[in-house]
Amino acid sequence: MKKLLSVLMILTLMFSLAACGSSEQSSSEAQPEAEASAPKIGVTIYKFDDNFMSFVRRSIEKSAGDQAELVLNDSQNDQAKQNEQVEMMISKGVKSLAINLVDPQAAATIISKAKEAELPVVFFNKEPSEQDMASYDKAWYVGTTSSESGVIQGELIADSWKANPAWDKNGDGKIQYVLLKGEPGHPDAEARTKYAVETVVEKGIEVEELELQTGMWDSVKGKELMDAWIAKHGDKIEYVIANNDAMALGAINSLKAEGYFEGDKFMPVVGVDAIPDALTQIEAGTLVGSVLNDAANQGKATVDLAINVANGKDVLEGTEWKLDDKKAVRVPYLAITKDNIQVAKDCYAE
Ligand code: BGC
Ligand code: CA
Repeated sequence: MKKLLSVLMILTLMFSLAACGSSEQSSSEAQPEAEASAPKIGVTIYKFDDNFMSFVRRSIEKSAGDQAELVLNDSQNDQAKQNEQVEMMISKGVKSLAINLVDPQAAATIISKAKEAELPVVFFNKEPSEQDMASYDKAWYVGTTSSESGVIQGELIADSWKANPAWDKNGDGKIQYVLLKGEPGHPDAEARTKYAVETVVEKGIEVEELELQTGMWDSVKGKELMDAWIAKHGDKIEYVIANNDAMALGAINSLKAEGYFEGDKFMPVVGVDAIPDALTQIEAGTLVGSVLNDAANQGKATVDLAINVANGKDVLEGTEWKLDDKKAVRVPYLAITKDNIQVAKDCYAE
């Protein structure tokens, strides 16, 4: 047993190095050379009031340190407001833009403003279309491979289902599931919804969708939907799949209010992001698992690229990041369960 534990600890350590190591490496290598100044960089977050984005924002501020002067805007989920903020930042003389779009379709509008001012732009978290990205040689993207989170979540669902035959409450061999979707049209929401379910099916498990609606990435909306679904389907629901942790946490609150997680009344729930509040639920056994969406490294990469281009350097100079053929830096996802929870704790540590 002891030996097994130490092997597990070593494995966990290895995973944590793989998941978070690049952050530390690149932070020392991305130090500016002596002559670099602290350029003004214009940043927008689609809304400050988004659990996951608040961690990305923190990382952006921390990574910028004194290497850049950030002009940071809350776009309050309003694309028109964001467009005005971009114009305002351009008039304030920022040297590059780092944009978390409100509406992924609005990339063309932002690009035309950036082009006019001859400013480089780094989009992050909401990926513009391939066409928009190709329309401007000074546009880059920092995010993830959206489908990867869906596949990993699907594997978590399939593995946990196979390990817990009692979860098939009506004994028909199928998973009767409800799905809380993120913002429609958001590449992460679309891909997670598609690939999570497809992966479960590929693993040989039949599924039946009882409900699928958008909770807009939001905890309160997630709870409201779950309240309604429990009222409608009760124990016919066998699995709750959420496109992100905020909605999963909302669903868990709803389930708790209905007496779940007491005695043998149980409902499996999975999320994505592995934010600290979700880790608490994983430890308590109320969340089966999550998928680490590495906010720290996404924030760091966004700043590294934006500073480089603001200083007229090559976008990747002095960093460990790699661009794919879509001019995107893609930070990997990782499955998180009780067994490797420390990895996610470390990634979200201040
Ligand atoms: C995260 C969500 C977040 C969204 C914002 C996604 O990658 O998983 O939690 O609300 O980005 O755009
Ligand atoms: Ca069933």
